[in-house]
This record gives sequence, structure tokens and C-alpha cells, in this order.
Amino acid sequence: MPDTAENPGQIKSTIRTGQEYIDSLRGRNLKIFLFGERVDEPVDHPMIRPSINAVAATYDLAVSNPELATAMSPYTGERINRFLHIAQSRDDVVNQNKMQRRLGQLTGTCFQRCVGMDAFNSLHSVTFEIDEAHGTPYHQRFLDFVTLAQSGGCVIGGAMTDVKGDRSKPPHAQADPDLYVHVTRRTEEGVYISGAKAHQTGCINSHWLIVMPTIRLGEQDRDYAIVGAIPVDAEGITYIYGRQSCDTRSMEGGDLDAGNAQYGGQEAMVIFKDVFIPNERIFMDGEYDFAAMLVERFTCYHRRSYVCKSGVGDVLIGAAAAIADYNGVEKASHIRDKLVEMTHQNETIYSTGIASSYQSTKMKSGVYKCDDMIANVCKHHVTKMPYELARLAQDLAGGLMVTAPSQQDFEHEEIGPLLQKFLKGREGASTEDRLRILRLIENMTLGRNAVGYLTESMHGAGSPQAQRVQIARQSQLEYKKKLAKKLAGVGAADTESPTAQEEYMARVFNVESGD
Ligand SMILES: Cc1cc2nc3c(=O)[nH]c(=O)nc-3n(C[C@H](O)[C@H](O)[C@H](O)COP(=O)(O)OP(=O)(O)OC[C@H]3O[C@@H](n4cnc5c(N)ncnc54)[C@H](O)[C@@H]3O)c2cc1C
Ligand code: SF4
Repeated sequence: MPDTAENPGQIKSTIRTGQEYIDSLRGRNLKIFLFGERVDEPVDHPMIRPSINAVAATYDLAVSNPELATAMSPYTGERINRFLHIAQSRDDVVNQNKMQRRLGQLTGTCFQRCVGMDAFNSLHSVTFEIDEAHGTPYHQRFLDFVTLAQSGGCVIGGAMTDVKGDRSKPPHAQADPDLYVHVTRRTEEGVYISGAKAHQTGCINSHWLIVMPTIRLGEQDRDYAIVGAIPVDAEGITYIYGRQSCDTRSMEGGDLDAGNAQYGGQEAMVIFKDVFIPNERIFMDGEYDFAAMLVERFTCYHRRSYVCKSGVGDVLIGAAAAIADYNGVEKASHIRDKLVEMTHQNETIYSTGIASSYQSTKMKSGVYKCDDMIANVCKHHVTKMPYELARLAQDLAGGLMVTAPSQQDFEHEEIGPLLQKFLKGREGASTEDRLRILRLIENMTLGRNAVGYLTESMHGAGSPQAQRVQIARQSQLEYKKKLAKKLAGVGAADTESPTAQEEYMARVFNVESGD
């Protein structure tokens, strides 16, 4: 990326295409470790490149389908990539989900840009409300940064999850203060931070990172209440690349055994050692009482962003149907029923995510925010349903999915023809095609893209219990008890309690247009 020492993180011209994006990542001299060694140029690393290709797809979709993947920015006055857009209407929030499903279909993996998109949209309202309460200048600073990122067409990584040490203790009570990212020093010009963020999706493929607190904070955690934008190539940052199951297959040459040779996800640990954030890039510093609001609003957007998994699920359903066809059993009733079950579960994920977006409301700052209750229901489904889809896909695949020989064996002069003969499915289906589909199912349910499709579905945007807590908070049992008691004739129940109508049900029964 064309950085300068005076102006780190600046992009000289707007990145529009996938190729321009890939070029923007070259020559940044990031301190990245993988297999105990420094990576000179991640763009050319065969294990890292599929994750870069997945982000590049978000640019190419904006070129090929601008209605779906771009929006008009009120800040730049130009069409920008939707991943950088601040939602101006209910439709904007809905269209985020449509774009995410489409990208899941096109890549079969995590395309990494939603964390930044959701951080942008949540910070819009949170910075506004901090300023309102404390008279701080965060909202305008944030808008200036949004404008800069939109003008450059940047990728923004959302760095929320700290390494957290002893989960039962708050940040200030940890044995080591660095287990949560915190301010170590303040100067007239800005702050210095230290600590580490774990599991950072697409961080090395980003241009900027936004660091945010990961949990509710108390007064003693004041130094942990820090939100700021940092260029990915800032001094003091070390990236340690995360391994994914079967990741080295992409370093073996050939494209069959990788299953999905073109696309993959990326996670890394990001270690900050006295990294400087100038004042103009600080969007919260010390307002610990707003940390919980930020976490809740971010996860609200992000939990319904997991409709991305319905796009990936479309690919898995297609793979399951294709292998049943190659095996000659596509018309068997139990196969058809299993494909229906997969589709039913996949559409359930999509339905809840898109419903949350359709039930968006306008915040005080003007941004639209999706419905919290249904976003949590969506993400909670996502912690379960992809596992069931994976189970059914493996059922339809048969055992060869995990016992098939390597591409080199298929290409071998002596044993290749034997494998072609003995691993054939129905007449008319090629052995190689059958193998390719099996490897794709392996990739998505056991291999590198199972990271995104399964375990990220479990823990990304918060582990299952985090959603249950949010669902419980909004379940309005007292209000519902009154409904039941009234119909049952128990006492003189009041069904229209004002508190009930102020909360979840008020949104359900709101018939106003969101635009
Ligand atoms: C593939 C992937 C990509 C991700 N991408 C990002 C990203 O881009 N940015 C980002 O910021 N984060 C990201 N995350 C992080 C994600 O949000 C966390 O994994 C999630 O919040 C869980 O945290 P953890 O992994 O530390 O698990 P833990 O917190 O260790 O949780 C493990 C278990 O312990 C339970 N538990 C934890 N704390 C408590 C407690 N105090 N009391 C009782 N039970 C507890 C949990 O419910 C869970 O069952 C990603 C995660 C994954 C797996
Ligand atoms: S898991 Fe889905 S929502 Fe999260 S960044 Fe990846 S593609 Fe986007």
C-alpha cells in the first residue's frame, strides 16, 4: 500500500478492482510470522493468497454488480464499496445481507470485510452518543476517518477480541495488564497502546485496524476503554498467522486436494507494543461507561452479518446434490429429503438475518441499526445449523471424502489409470469431477474453510452463551406472563405495560417506514 512515513495508512488513489486491491497490499513490510519465520511478501505466499483472493472478490462484485455491492456516500458524494458505507436507510442494512450471501456463494469462505463494516456502523451511533454525554469530539473525528477510508476504498479490520487471560476477571484484575489492549502512555499528540487481539479476521489483508474494547468495563478499567484507527503497517505491530486445518495443501502444487484452491479465510494474532494512535484517530479514550454499548451495537450488526454462512451453505448444498448425482443416487427419496433439510436450515439462517435487517431502526446519529433480538437469534442458529448441514453433506458424500488418494496419485503413470477406473461413479460422470466435489466438501466441513463455516460460526461475534444472554435480556417474560394471565383470566392483568412497549415489542409493532 502506498504509505508514507508522514501520513501512514493513506491510500493515494481509490482502490476499485480486485487487482488494484491486491496491488495495494504489496511492499508494506509488515512483521508477519508463519511457521516460525518472517513472511517477506504475503501477497505471493501460497498459503495466504487464497484469503487475499476472497477479499479481492468483494471489490470485483462491486464492479460487476454495483447495485448490490456499492452505495452512494453522503460523505464523499460518490459511489463507494458497500463494506465502507454507513447505513442511511433500512434498505441499506438489508442490502448488506444480500451482498454477504452473494459473496458467500462466490467464495465458499469468509471474505473478511464485515467486521470493519459493522464496526463503522456501530461507531457512528456510539461516538455520537459519547459526545452527547461527555462533550467529546469523537463523532466528527470518526466521520473524517470514514471519509478517508471511503475515498481510498480501504479494507478495515475490526479488532475487538482481546486474548483475555482469566475469563473470570475484568481487565484491571488480570495478572498481566497486557492481556487486554490498553493505553500505556498519553502525550499531547495521542496515546500509545499495548496488548494483543486474538483471531483477527483478515487483519493482514486490511489497510486499517480499528481497535475496540471487547467487554463491559468499569471505572478501574478506564485505560482499557480505547477505540482508535491504526494503519496495518504502524510501528510496533507484530502479526502471528493462524493455522487452519489442511492449510499446507495449498503449498503442495496442484489444485485438486485443496478443495477450494482459489479462496480461503484468514485469522492472525495481532500484538501491539507501544503502538501510537494520534488524537485525530481516537474515537473513545477513557469513557468506560460506553464500552458495553459499543460491544452490544457491534455484535448486533455482526450477528446478523452471519447470513454470509447461508451463501456458503448454498455452495455446500450444491456440492451435496452434485455428489449424489455423480454417485447415481440423486433421485432416492432419503437423499432428496436430506437436501430439503439442508435447504430448510440454510434458509432459516438467512430468514432471521434478513428479518433483523428489515426491522432496523434509526439511531440518534442518523445511522440505521438492525434488530438486536433477531440478530442474536440469527447468530444462535449459526452456532448450530452449519454443523447439521456439514453432517448431512458428509452423509451424502460417502467415505471417499476422507480416504481419497492425492492428486499426484491420480496423475501417476501406473496407478492413475487404476484410480480412474475404480473410483468412478455413475456412467457419464468423470472420476475427476467426483473427486473435486468430494474435496470441496472436505474443505468446507473438515479443511481450511471449515474454520469459517463451522468454528467461526460457533465463536465469531461471540460464543453461543453470549447470544443467549442477549436473548434472555429481551425476552420480556413479565409482559408475556401478563398476556397469558389475561387470557387465562388470572387476576387483572395489564397487557400494555409501558416498559414492554418501549422495548422489543415496540419494534415488532412499529409500522412506520424505516427510510
Ligand atoms: C474464525 C474466527 C474469526 C474471528 N474473527 C474475529 C475478528 O475479526 N475480530 C474480533 O475481534 N474477533 C474475532 N473472533 C473472535 C470471537 O469473537 C471470539 O472467538 C469469541 O468472542 C469467543 O472468545 P474466545 O475465542 O476467547 O473464547 P473464550 O472466551 O475462551 O470462550 C470459550 C468458552 O468459555 C465460555 N466463557 C468465556 N468467558 C466466560 C465467563 N466469563 N464466564 C463463563 N463462561 C465463559 C464461553 O461462553 C465459551 O463457551 C473470531 C473468532 C474466530 C473463531
Ligand atoms: S464470518 Fe461472515 S460475517 Fe464474519 S467477516 Fe467472514 S464473511 Fe463476514
